[in-house]
Amino acid sequence: MRDWPEKKLGFGLMRLPKLADGNFDMEQVCQMADAFLANGFTYFDTAFVYEGSEEAFRKAVVERHPRESFTIASKLAGWRLKEGFGPEEMLAETMSRMGVDYIDYYLLHSLQESHGTIYEDYGCWEFINRKKEEGVLKHIGFSFHGSPEYLEQLLQLHPEVEFVQLQINYADWDNASICSRRNYEICEKYGKSVIVMEPVKGGLLANVIPEARKVFDEADPNASSASFALRYAASLPAVKVVLSGMSLMSQMEDNLNIFADFKPLSDTEKEIVNRAANVILSSKTVPCTSCRYCVDGCPMGIVIPRVFTFYNMLQSFGEHVRPHSLYKELVEGGAGRAADCIQCGQCEGVCPQHISIIEKLQDASAVLDV
Ligand code: SF4
Ligand code: SF4
Repeated sequence: MRDWPEKKLGFGLMRLPKLADGNFDMEQVCQMADAFLANGFTYFDTAFVYEGSEEAFRKAVVERHPRESFTIASKLAGWRLKEGFGPEEMLAETMSRMGVDYIDYYLLHSLQESHGTIYEDYGCWEFINRKKEEGVLKHIGFSFHGSPEYLEQLLQLHPEVEFVQLQINYADWDNASICSRRNYEICEKYGKSVIVMEPVKGGLLANVIPEARKVFDEADPNASSASFALRYAASLPAVKVVLSGMSLMSQMEDNLNIFADFKPLSDTEKEIVNRAANVILSSKTVPCTSCRYCVDGCPMGIVIPRVFTFYNMLQSFGEHVRPHSLYKELVEGGAGRAADCIQCGQCEGVCPQHISIIEKLQDASAVLDV
């Protein structure tokens, strides 16, 4: 498939900067989008379920830049079809929010075994094929959080799929639940292009624990930790775009520098990254990416990703970063405590990182609920 951007960085619109009142900081979003486009980058990524993101994209990009200067990816959320939308209505809503009359890259969102046959039940595969024939969708694919066996099955059943979006980063490469390596190798086997999501694992690999940072310092003390993670993902030959969910202009500037004159990791740098990965994987931190998929369904109101953030802060940096005070503020604001977990299992069923949340909350409770 042609039509991939020349430069591999994609602007993920899932974590846009916000103001104190909770609204998007549109001034900063516009500045970030302008800098991205001015430096020759083109690929933006959003989704029906990224609240307010499709509208923010319209305001920052569609209404301010020529249509041919950018490409946009968005996603059809199968699990929201139960709420009375058909796929046609969901796509129409996405296009209306974004103010576009075609979509460059359209994905079925988050395929995994636990979503069952929802995309088949609602005729989504036939739907995206038809919309591609009509020219409304230029390229079709899916994002994936399941097992290698399921991925292979899907690619055999749907040879029309042009690309797959996978979670790939050096910490998850050989992870037995995420299976970055095996899923990537299946895409290569079937000749599919790969889009990378979570290359810095929701920010965890941008702020690595001090022991891992020491390893990176040996290679280049001036290179950010995020740069090693992004270059790792972008060095894989089938990878066409690496998404970075940027929240700050400083992150945008760092990423633009990394990808302006992209250099794949050398063999020495790969060895450095592998060593850092081993250090991170042997630490006690919880690999939560703060996607928040688990939050709304918790009957005890536990803001699980925040609890894990404070737990990780404590593990990595100790007391001086104030994890106990921040946790206290969270609980005093009305959130449930880690100790309130009733082990209903709702959260573990929806966690794309396959974290043993109940067990990890017990670890967190032991040090935070004191
Ligand atoms: S298992 Fe615990 S944390 Fe998870 S949803 Fe249930 S009560 Fe909340
Ligand atoms: S679903 Fe998993 S990765 Fe996402 S916020 Fe919850 S614990 Fe973290």
